[in-house]
Amino acid sequence: MTMSANVTSRKVPEHLVFDDAPRRIYWEVTRACSLACRHCRAEASPNPDPDELSPEEGLALLDRIATFGAPKPHVIFTGGDPLEREDLFDLVAHARSLGLGVSVSPSATPRLTPQVIRRFREAGVEAISLSIDRATAEAHDALRGVEGCSARTIAAALAAREVGLMLQVNTLVAAETVDDLAGVYRLVCDLGAARWSLFFLVSVGRGTVLQPVDARRAEELLAWLADLPRDPGKPLVTTTEAPHFRRVLLQRRSLPQVAAARAGFGIRDGNGVLFVSHTGYVSPSGFLPMAAGNVRRQDIVDIYRSSPMFESLRDVQSFRGRCGICEYHAVCGGSRARALTAEGDMLAEDPLCTYRPVRAMQRGGTP
Ligand code: SF4
Repeated sequence: MTMSANVTSRKVPEHLVFDDAPRRIYWEVTRACSLACRHCRAEASPNPDPDELSPEEGLALLDRIATFGAPKPHVIFTGGDPLEREDLFDLVAHARSLGLGVSVSPSATPRLTPQVIRRFREAGVEAISLSIDRATAEAHDALRGVEGCSARTIAAALAAREVGLMLQVNTLVAAETVDDLAGVYRLVCDLGAARWSLFFLVSVGRGTVLQPVDARRAEELLAWLADLPRDPGKPLVTTTEAPHFRRVLLQRRSLPQVAAARAGFGIRDGNGVLFVSHTGYVSPSGFLPMAAGNVRRQDIVDIYRSSPMFESLRDVQSFRGRCGICEYHAVCGGSRARALTAEGDMLAEDPLCTYRPVRAMQRGGTP
């Protein structure tokens, strides 16, 4: 059986359903950030919310996360700016002592010094992620509305390379950035990033100030990404809120890319992914602002495994429109965050995808 046939069959293979534990937990440890990027998802502000999880609550949350069992989820400390939390390194140390893998998504501020980056490495942080949205410093700073942001980002990336800390570069895909992506890719390669993650805009938070690309342009872009070389020294390309990249990889038979991306197949909002807000609310992703519970009152393990919201998001048969009948829905499933934003229904089809499933073609019309 070919790899393609195996992952696109109607019965969902067990390894594509993450019923017991998420693979990745994004914890927004604070919304405080000294930047004020124009399109910030978190709508960050200079001061911490007095209601954000306390240091004790943070340690207890990590204790509970560790009880998900093996393989333990990887925790990404995000924000706001995680470096605004005075107890960040205590949280990192506790997570590591519990056997949890840790990454950090810091903001490019003066706090992100080479010394801090070295300290991340010494504390056992696996990777940091930095944002580069445009290929030139002027364009990047103008998009973010923060002067000097690009220079600090490049300096931090070089400092990470210097100490051997894995780097992921995050890039926004929107109408305002899409024509610049080839230049961003060259920069990502030059910086020696291990991973390039492209976030296809979902208009939440301050993201509503930008325009998403349309489905046709997204399809062209995904095809270009699928054809990028998978050579040693080149970054692994992944997408956020565009899981149909996996469908494109399989259709184009980009086998080196498929092999590299295979571990992420099936993972999407609520299936293998969980987000904890700064005040403890648990959502399927940071771009899907619907809470299934709060870690102050409920066990995060119970919320993930048993809440009706998470259960429905793991059941591809419950999806509507094309995503419900698509032969790729087990590996893809569409962006549930975009379905909610665009259709008001997190189980609706993802309008950013142009694919016509075989069953829709057989019916001769739109499902
Ligand atoms: S129709 Fe839905 S499940 Fe199928 S490839 Fe497109 S987004 Fe993915």
